[in-house]
Amino acid sequence: MTLRFSGKQSSLRPAAGATATGLMTIGWFLLQSLMPLPPALAQAESDELTYGQFLQKVEQGEVESVEIDEARGIAYVQLDGAAEDAPPQEVMLFAEGGNAELIRTLTANDVDVDIRDSSGSGALAWLATNSLLALILIFGLLMLLRRSASGAGNAMSFGKSKARFQMEAKTGVVFDDVAGIEEAKEELQEVVSFLKSPEKFTAIGARIPKGVLLIGQPGTGKTLLAKAIAGEAAVPFFSISGSEFVEMFVGVGASRVRDLFRKAKENAPCIVFIDEIDAVGRQRGTGIGGGNDEREQTLNQLLTEMDGFEGNSGIIVIAATNRVDVLDLALLRPGRFDRQVVVDLPTYKGRLSILEVHARDKKIEAEVSLEAVARRTPGFSGAELANLLNEAAILTARRRKEAMGMVEIEDAIDRVTIGLSLTPLLDSSRKRMTAYHEVGHALLTTLLTHSDELNKVTIIPRSGGIEGFTQSLPNEDIIDSGLYTRNWLMDRITVALGGFAAEAEVFGDDETSTGASGDIQQVSNLARQMVTLYGMSELGPLALESMDNQVFLGRNLMPRNEVSEEMAGKIDAQVRGIALSCLNRARTMLRQHRTLMDNLVDALLERETIDGDEFRQIVRQYTEIPEKFLVKAG
Ligand code: ADP
Ligand code: ZN
Repeated sequence: MTLRFSGKQSSLRPAAGATATGLMTIGWFLLQSLMPLPPALAQAESDELTYGQFLQKVEQGEVESVEIDEARGIAYVQLDGAAEDAPPQEVMLFAEGGNAELIRTLTANDVDVDIRDSSGSGALAWLATNSLLALILIFGLLMLLRRSASGAGNAMSFGKSKARFQMEAKTGVVFDDVAGIEEAKEELQEVVSFLKSPEKFTAIGARIPKGVLLIGQPGTGKTLLAKAIAGEAAVPFFSISGSEFVEMFVGVGASRVRDLFRKAKENAPCIVFIDEIDAVGRQRGTGIGGGNDEREQTLNQLLTEMDGFEGNSGIIVIAATNRVDVLDLALLRPGRFDRQVVVDLPTYKGRLSILEVHARDKKIEAEVSLEAVARRTPGFSGAELANLLNEAAILTARRRKEAMGMVEIEDAIDRVTIGLSLTPLLDSSRKRMTAYHEVGHALLTTLLTHSDELNKVTIIPRSGGIEGFTQSLPNEDIIDSGLYTRNWLMDRITVALGGFAAEAEVFGDDETSTGASGDIQQVSNLARQMVTLYGMSELGPLALESMDNQVFLGRNLMPRNEVSEEMAGKIDAQVRGIALSCLNRARTMLRQHRTLMDNLVDALLERETIDGDEFRQIVRQYTEIPEKFLVKAG
């Protein structure tokens, strides 16, 4: 429940309505004043009476009725015996402070008197629209002022734009909703006790921490954890994202910080959660084009606020980041974010318990094994797992099924990892080539000793130009340890070249396609890392590139500028050597199993998708399959 701002918002609505009508009036008014005098009026001017003539006619009883427009100082006179539709004669009036005298004379002479309310065309209307205009201007100015200077003054901006920070009186999240990150949970359990019964700690002179820094990739559940702490301790939860602090105008961020902490103090004990703190908390004095005044001011204000409140004031600031390396050291000093909790991507067990949490509110068939799903999803974050089950639920609903089955979950995995599936291609030479390409990958996956276990191979195209894919189940032990052997790497490169090798073997070198470009990119990256980072080449154990920001798979290397030109040449030769020897091995193996490969392609063309077990069954009819590591069971 997000409190407090709804009342404000609705009170603004009438003002907005007034603005709209105001604008309409102005438009109409302008139109009026620009219009040339209508002919009727122009003519009336010629029948003008002087004031004296008018009084005379009144006294002679020649006037039937008079309409007085006080605002304009004109009387419209209808003479006795004039035609019904004749225009009235106009008389300029002189009386400034009212026409009481004239009216008395008129009534004494039995003339009908009408006082015209000249709204719409007269000075009154002019006044009215102008004051409206002024009001609108003032209103607009106020809005601007509030937007920029006072910023988070009321923690909200106007209309549809989002609140600058949010407050939730009750998050409704408890520790049971957070799964798979047990260590982090345990460490934060303590924070809950601080909030619930601070006396226990202060009594023995312990200083309660003011700040906790949660470090982890996006979607690992940092926000969820912070909310769970607030929920468990039953305290309000204030949250803001670091990027919201950083504005174009110097000083705005700092005032937002001040504001946030003022509100927090009013509501203590409470949790203040700052997401993406790296947006403000980068080391000062860095950045392209010199320092960033605004960010520094914001950061300084944040530090001041954190130093300003007593350790036992009941405010605990929780900040989240995935880049602790860029944070300003001042943030990490004692008394600030001196506690750091790492929130890792979940392991197999973690994924299983996260899936269990998110399966609680979904209808799932009994045959579904969440263990299998957890095994199929290494590298998924908590948020991705939650999203996966949601996608599967959507698929289930679309298929009008009562409960989610393994098929829906499998499809959802492919959908989130690879893309939407499209309708299969009609039989064509291109489809045949794709089948050979994928069978090349899949067959080598199955035949090589150190490769992963094949899960499935398909030639159903996917969005994003994917014509087919081969999917294997990563070995949990290897993924979790992050240690890869030379054998594993060589097999991986060989499998990656399997598609290209199959195309070359079957259709000839001249007929290989550009479809293998992704594979080749992967091969180059892996081979280069083997040479420059892991010492797995004839050049020996030399680190030829820095490890900075290296994530093992899938990321490009930094530009090479630390080695001599001669060494660069040697590195290239080694990389090439690895790639060529793996390609050779791939081609040789596929050549040896050509009949098997042809039969697999026929099966794949017929069925479009073959799962790992079926595939191995076919392969076993021709040759032996090496004993692989056991895939860890639940
Ligand atoms: P972060 O703040 O680390 O980017 P979030 O806390 O915003 O991640 O996670 C987004 C959503 O993903 C959560 O609301 C929750 O549904 C799901 N989620 C993420 N991690 C977990 C977890 N460990 N246990 C249960 N659900 C999780
Ligand atoms: Zn491929």
